[in-house]
Amino acid sequence: MNSLKPSKLALSGLSLPDLIKVLEPTQLPLYKLKQIHAWIYAKFGTSFSQMSDLSLAERQLLDNNYVLSVLNTKDCQISKDGTKKYLFSLNNDDKYIESVLMTFQKREDLSVCVSSQVGCAVGCKFCATSFVNFKRNLTSQEIVDQVMSIQRDNQVRIGNIVYMGQGEPLLNTEEVIKSIYVFANSVGIGKRHITVSTSGIIPGINRLAKENLPITLALSLHACDDDLRNSIMPGVKTYSIKNTFQALTEYLQTTNRRVTIEYVLLAGVNDSSEQAHKLAKLVSKINCHINLIPYNPINELSESISYKRPSIEVQEAFKAIVETSGRKVTSRLERGKDISAACGQLHNKHLNQRVPS
Ligand code: SAH
Ligand code: SF4
Repeated sequence: MNSLKPSKLALSGLSLPDLIKVLEPTQLPLYKLKQIHAWIYAKFGTSFSQMSDLSLAERQLLDNNYVLSVLNTKDCQISKDGTKKYLFSLNNDDKYIESVLMTFQKREDLSVCVSSQVGCAVGCKFCATSFVNFKRNLTSQEIVDQVMSIQRDNQVRIGNIVYMGQGEPLLNTEEVIKSIYVFANSVGIGKRHITVSTSGIIPGINRLAKENLPITLALSLHACDDDLRNSIMPGVKTYSIKNTFQALTEYLQTTNRRVTIEYVLLAGVNDSSEQAHKLAKLVSKINCHINLIPYNPINELSESISYKRPSIEVQEAFKAIVETSGRKVTSRLERGKDISAACGQLHNKHLNQRVPS
């Protein structure tokens, strides 16, 4: 007991081996540590006092020296369609991140969109997160605890994880990989129910391929010419579309998992029939599914943003051309439009009301 640190460490979001290590100073026997793990991950315990299979003294010991969560809920907005957007502050340095709980009418299982970094350095012109300067990578614990905090708040089990919140997961690859294992081994979410979305960081794609996980990899493509792509996604200009598709092909050969190609439709920018034909040609070369995403306006963040969402007719015409590739093409369901559910939007709204950290 004498070696306990003065600052309280958080337990939720840790793997079982890490939890055992962090709780070592308590000298609790292994079976008790496993009970604590079960309280966190299977019973969604919200306080140490609930852990009724521990003695009062043991619960007090935990309470005096540890906290449950590495996050604090600062804001939660609920959309008319049931989508819930959370703004969390991080215990370690009071920075802010966002996570979104999504419900789908035709599906029983729930999905959570997690952040992988505070801010993002890629700087995509249409993305609210690019208005939050990159601050730091999240730890695996901070990624996993987003889902645990949402499970505790709603007392529901989450079935799917998408790494589509703030940040570029493949610029934080090691912690993202570690978090995938904690999701699978402690939280109980099958790897096949996990999607990692990337703006196309080739070393990260190669690293992920080496890990050979049965997850889904999604590439945010958004343009079929390097010049156009670089103008809207300046942070990935070191990676040409040709080299990115080569990395995806190798990823496919290693993992045998179909990839997803994401394409945000911006009126007059990347929604021409010419771009649609180029996209059809590109995607016909690899085993993939295409997800067209109508632009979610973030124009209130800056006068410099002039993007617009294309009309439904233009979206449908674009989709019909891409379908000539023979690949499956879907349009992303919009969630939580009335609560700023595009990544980074809630964070920015909040920052406008406080002194930025
Ligand atoms: N950094 C990763 C994952 C987070 S962004 C990536 O870029 O893939 C998740 C998805 O949301 C990406 O496909 C991104 O392009 C898209 N996105 C960002 N801002 C958007 C907006 N305003 N409207 C629609 N989609 C947006
Ligand atoms: Fe970063 Fe993704 Fe937003 Fe681009 S779209 S700025 S990569 S979070």
